[in-house]
Amino acid sequence: MNRIFELIEKQNTIAIVGHIRPDGDCIGSSLGLYNYILDNYPNKRVDVYLEPISEKFKFLNGAKEIINEPSHEVYDISISVDCSDTERHGEFGIIFKNAKNTVCIDHHRSNLGFGDLYYCDPDASSACEVVSRFLDMDKISKSCAEAIYMGIIHDTGVLKYSATSEETMYIVGKLISKGIDTQFIIDETFYRVRYSQNRLTGKALMKSKQYLDGKVIASNITLEDFEEFNASKEDTDGIIDKLRVTEGVEVAILAYQIDDKTYKFSMRSISYVDVSVISVHFGGGGHIRASGFYIIGDYEESLGKILDMVSKQI
Ligand code: 5GP
Ligand code: MN
Repeated sequence: MNRIFELIEKQNTIAIVGHIRPDGDCIGSSLGLYNYILDNYPNKRVDVYLEPISEKFKFLNGAKEIINEPSHEVYDISISVDCSDTERHGEFGIIFKNAKNTVCIDHHRSNLGFGDLYYCDPDASSACEVVSRFLDMDKISKSCAEAIYMGIIHDTGVLKYSATSEETMYIVGKLISKGIDTQFIIDETFYRVRYSQNRLTGKALMKSKQYLDGKVIASNITLEDFEEFNASKEDTDGIIDKLRVTEGVEVAILAYQIDDKTYKFSMRSISYVDVSVISVHFGGGGHIRASGFYIIGDYEESLGKILDMVSKQI
């Protein structure tokens, strides 16, 4: 950690990159670091590279400055946050690859390590929690605190998932002391839903089926379902959380169709099934209790293969 921080302190141009389809934790950790560096080292230049982010995240300081297109600029250092492998950088991989120094800060169990310097804690609740370990709490501004708090809220399901630790709560307490509007952040970025999202959720719940004596629940959303409610991929947010709280369920599975041949799968488990190994098997990754991957093939057939692996663990 000290080596990473000393390295960052020495560099003048800094590029922060996250993962494709950035979520709350990815955006929060990117902008938390961005604000901290600019607040405390105003002579440095910091650029954040991410795919376009949802409107609800744009209240964060620096969100409007996020660059959505990769460039050929060679930065002194590129810092990767919340990203389990370099594939997940998507088109911003070039920024990371071209930088003179590279650092990886992460919390994914499936992360095998990359970058000149690498710090990954698979037991940390979020990338934001890991990033906060690098920061001097007394030097965190309100803008920085808002970003980091938001990421922790998202990756812990509002301080609920098992990775929420004493350290998580200690950091959250410190962030709240900066005067952030916690209710606004929780309601507007986590719980608020669109009409199309509610209707898509309803359909996915109606279509859900139970397997393995009800220990598994699975559902799928087809291109036709998206069309029916004029819904987008963003509208799938939160559906898996509704599936996973079903009585008797250990594993929840949600697939949504990307195109004719491809499905994106998300998996969640409650207490003993390791869904990370299953996702890694299919070329994806994640955590013990939350993971995902892409499969080319038919939904029922892919689900069959997944259920085989789940049933062995159960
Ligand atoms: P979600 O199901 O919400 O998309 O993702 C849950 C967790 O699994 C996230 O931490 C995410 O980083 C990881 N994950 C989801 N899809 C993929 C994937 O295709 N590849 C990898 N490596 N990780 C994924
Ligand atoms: Mn994360």
